[in-house]
Amino acid sequence: MAIPLDQAEVWIFDLDNTLYPASCNLFAQVDQRIGDFIADRFGIPFGEARAMQKRFFREHGTTLRGLMVEHDIDPVPFLDYVHDIDATPVDPSPALDRALAALPGRKVIYTNGSVAHAANITARLGIRDRFDAVFDIVAAGYVPKPDPRPYRTMTESFGIDPSRAVMVEDIARNLTPAHAMGMTTVWVVSEADWARPDLGGVGTGDHIDHAVPDLVAWLAEVAGTAE
Ligand SMILES: [Mg+2]
Repeated sequence: MAIPLDQAEVWIFDLDNTLYPASCNLFAQVDQRIGDFIADRFGIPFGEARAMQKRFFREHGTTLRGLMVEHDIDPVPFLDYVHDIDATPVDPSPALDRALAALPGRKVIYTNGSVAHAANITARLGIRDRFDAVFDIVAAGYVPKPDPRPYRTMTESFGIDPSRAVMVEDIARNLTPAHAMGMTTVWVVSEADWARPDLGGVGTGDHIDHAVPDLVAWLAEVAGTAE
């Protein structure tokens, strides 16, 4: 059941393509570095590494999961390597900073990436001090969204009442477990086919309470900082 937004006690934000626009194309850098990591680790050409990467993603949900399950790869150097990217395509966002500062309630980041990646990106956006906590793929025991188990680990470890929480995400299917737990859900509208509710393998979006094309403008309205 969706709650009025002014009753939210906790705001849970995805990081990539949610707190900054997908048009920054940062994932292209991560994607390239994942391919490089695999090519280097297995001593294979980049094309073969790519095929392996795609198969892992398909069969295990993330490349990292496939590397860990099938090849016992240490996740720490992998995460450090693939997130060592140039954040300058992301522009600082004073408007987002103002909205987050004015928004009542705790704010946390829930990402399939790493704490270091979240720190890098939020520093670039100029919003790093606005969050009370980051729940990353390490805290999730390397089980990525949308597996429901880490959502429960997250809410339990942060003492979050899901019925008083709002979750904001660009990948619609990642909101399915949040909705099932009773959270109010906000989908940052994305045209990417892997992000859309109708192509996310979960029907057509009754797990979405708010569909928001421009998160910064929408949050500014909610927080009362719109100009
Ligand atoms: Mg995302």
